[in-house]
This record gives sequence, structure tokens and C-alpha cells, in this order.
Amino acid sequence: MIVLRLRPGPAKDEVLTSWVTRLATEQMMRPSRLTNCLGLRGFWRQDPDLNATPEQLAGLAQATLCRLGQVEALTLAPIKRRLTARPDVARPPLLVLLGRHRGTRNVAGHPACPACLREGRAYLRSWRLATTVACPRHGTMLVENCRHCGAPISVTRAHFQKAQCAQTLPWTPERCWRCWERLPLGGVVPTPALTHVLGLQCLMDAAVHSGEARVGDLSLNAADLTGLLHPLTHVLLGLRPKVPPSVFDDLRAPLGLPPGVRAAGARPVLELLPPADRFQVVALAGWLLRDGLVSLLPELRVRGVRFTDLLPESTWPTPAWLRDLVHDQLARRPRQRRLTSLPTDFQRLTDEQWDRLAPLLTRAPGAVRSGGRARAPRDVFEGFLRRTTAGTTEDQWNHIPGVPRIKTTITHLKRWARTGQLDDALSELLNHLAEHGLSPDEPTTSALNSDPPLWVRQTLGALLAPRTLSVLARLGSTHHASLWNAALRLGLQEVQTA
Ligand SMILES: [Zn+2]
Ligand SMILES: [Zn+2]
Repeated sequence: MIVLRLRPGPAKDEVLTSWVTRLATEQMMRPSRLTNCLGLRGFWRQDPDLNATPEQLAGLAQATLCRLGQVEALTLAPIKRRLTARPDVARPPLLVLLGRHRGTRNVAGHPACPACLREGRAYLRSWRLATTVACPRHGTMLVENCRHCGAPISVTRAHFQKAQCAQTLPWTPERCWRCWERLPLGGVVPTPALTHVLGLQCLMDAAVHSGEARVGDLSLNAADLTGLLHPLTHVLLGLRPKVPPSVFDDLRAPLGLPPGVRAAGARPVLELLPPADRFQVVALAGWLLRDGLVSLLPELRVRGVRFTDLLPESTWPTPAWLRDLVHDQLARRPRQRRLTSLPTDFQRLTDEQWDRLAPLLTRAPGAVRSGGRARAPRDVFEGFLRRTTAGTTEDQWNHIPGVPRIKTTITHLKRWARTGQLDDALSELLNHLAEHGLSPDEPTTSALNSDPPLWVRQTLGALLAPRTLSVLARLGSTHHASLWNAALRLGLQEVQTA
């Protein structure tokens, strides 16, 4: 068994190949010679950072007198395990692939910050995350090719010049292995975009290192975060047929990004793109997620991104609660309210409530007949709230006793919406709820737990039901946005406390 005489320890967050290369240069050897001497067969054959076998890692640990766990922590395996809930996946999303694995021969180098390399730092594991596109230390973009000659940056060639292969030179990662120029620094990035890029990078770093990241009000683990980020980047890259990337164009100028640049390539998924292209997607995603789901979902909704665009069936596994939440917020026809504990059994308004509404809602002259008799506005309004909470189909709806037919309801609602009566009535209803201790602008789980009367909770449950909200959106109600935000916040709170 060989034990190396000179054994520099791994740097913080250093990647395995970088450390092995530094070990080799210390012994005045090429990296491939070192691994041969240590009997690590086929070590370099297939991206060792991702695919090194336990035997190879054990060999390295013996030769350097390190603990096996310490060597394993240099590989991408722990990150990969956190990123995916499925152990069988060879290539989890959001990990940058190198060289031919990316399908682009000789152009896919190791992402790196040349400024960090000039300071003699090692290659970092976090540079292999697809979300890492800028250096937080230097504020510049990562690069993966030499700008002089186009050669891909290579960790294992960070030590010798091709023309002088016989010589072993010290660890010089800041020079291009082909043209021997110093690697030019990465481009300076626009400040507004950098803020959001670093925000998202920190989130992802925290998730893969500690296993958990705070996204707005929620704390997500790395697999959940991948389940959200992976489809989101697909939307931003224009991989969803119904969402052209141009719907995000108005964000580019304020973020300092160039106008809509389409990603090239047959499969422009994030992990296959060069850092400059990834930068734009990460900046947009960072901006969308600046307050977590509270900022993401309304923004996607405004831009017409639907549930099926964000989370199609075949996508990477997403936690069930997130699917439910996104479904209720983005689907055109939400199924039901599943995320708040408000009661779903609204039946009738109290007489006190109706006394407040009665002067505001008049009978619509065009639709007085239903089943041969005129329907009172109270029946219609109650029917509206009942239908949207009960989640009945149109057929079932017409058989609920004591409720006007659906046509009557729709005619009334449309007319009330046109004349502003609907918004006035909703304002009155909400004020009345606020007088009884439940402000719908800021409903909190603690307020709900402090036991407001049942009818108050039932009314709020009816108003915040996804079906009510989707009808209010179609009617163009001014209350729609605030009620929708209230429903989202309440849903998130309940997820968080569950
Ligand atoms: Zn740097
Ligand atoms: Zn070069």
C-alpha cells in the first residue's frame, strides 16, 4: 500500500478531481500517472466527481491517510443524493455535465471563476450546480472556456503545458492548458440581476449542503426545491409549447438582461447550457422566487402560465402539497380547496349578513324567470357561494334543492359585475367579517384558531375557495387579487404549520 509523502488537505467545498490533481502536482506527477500508481483503474474514464466507485475512493483515502467520509464528501454524490428523491437516476437535473456527456464535443468545460483560480483557490463543487452562474466573491460570471482559444476549462489539465508534456509544472489553474494565456475574467454582471442570481444560488447551496432552504415562508429540502426549479426553468427556457419565453420579456430590461435570447441546441435544458445562457434563466427564476411562492405564483398567473405548464404529469417528482397548492392557484378549473382548514359547508347567509347586502343587490331584470318563478337576489348570491364551495358539476348543481338554476345565477352575477353591485356587496361582506374579528386581507391561522363564529369561518371559506376565485377572476372583480393572495398566504401558512 502506497502512502503519499506530500498530502495537501482538500480545501473547503473542493471537488474531488481538483484535489487529486493537486495531489499529483505535489508528487511531480500527472494526475493519470498518480491514479495508475495508486491502482485506481479507470478512474478518469467517466467524470470521477460523479462516478468514482467506493473502491477508488477507499484507495485515495488510504494513500492520503484521510477518512473515507472526508474523501467521499469531495464528490458530487452527496449533492446528487439530496437533489433527487430517486436513487436510480443517473443524472439528476440541475447538475452540470462535462464534455461529451453534454453532447457538445470539446466545448463543455468545467465552470469556474477565473478570478478565484488566480488567487490560487481550488475548483469548487458548487460550480457544478446548474444554478451557480456567478461568483459571489468577485461578482463576475463563471466561464467554462478559454476566451482566447476556446479550449474547455479542465481540472485535470490545470498543471502542465501541452508543448512541454514531459515536464511537470506546479498547480496553475489560472492558465489555459492549450494556449497558456491567463484565463480572462468572467464578464461583469448587471447588479440588479446579480442580486437575484446570488439569492437563488444561496438557496440552492443551502439546500444541497444543509439539506434545507428557506423559500419565502416555507422551508424546502433540496429534492422539493429541484421539483420546483426544474419545471420553472423549463418554462423560462420556452420548453412549454403554450408559454413562449417572450412572456417574461418585460423583466429583462429592469434586471439588466439583454432582450430575449433563445437558448440554442436541440435540448436546451438548464444543465446543458453554458453559464452565460444559464445566467439569464437563473436571474429570472431568482426574481420570480424573491418572496418564495407568494411572489412566484401570482406572477405566473398574471402571465398566463397554467398548472399544466408548470407541473405537467411527466415532470420531475414534486411533493404532493406543492402540486395541490400550484393546482389550486394556477389551474383554470380548480378542483377543490385542499389546503386551508376553513369549513367547506357554506349553506346560507345569516339574516344580519343579508340585511347589509340587501340594498346593494337588485334583481336583474333580464333573468327573473327560473323554473317558472322569479328568484330573490338572496337565493342567487347564496347559490353562487354554495356552488363554488360545494364543487358540484353543472348537472348536480341543477338538482340542489332551493338553489336557482345555473343560468339564472350566471345572468345575475354578470349583471352585478357590470354595474359594480357585486364588488360593493363583496366589500360589505368583507367589512362585516372584519367587524367580527376575521380580516380577510390578512387571515392568519392564529386568527382562525382564536375561534371566530362558525358562520364567519364558513363565509370566508366560501369566499376563498379556488372555485369562487376563478369565477371572480372571470367576472373581473376588483376583489379577486386580494382574495386570491389571502387564499395563497393562508394555504402556505397551513402547509408550514402542518
Ligand atoms: Zn471568484
Ligand atoms: Zn486558451
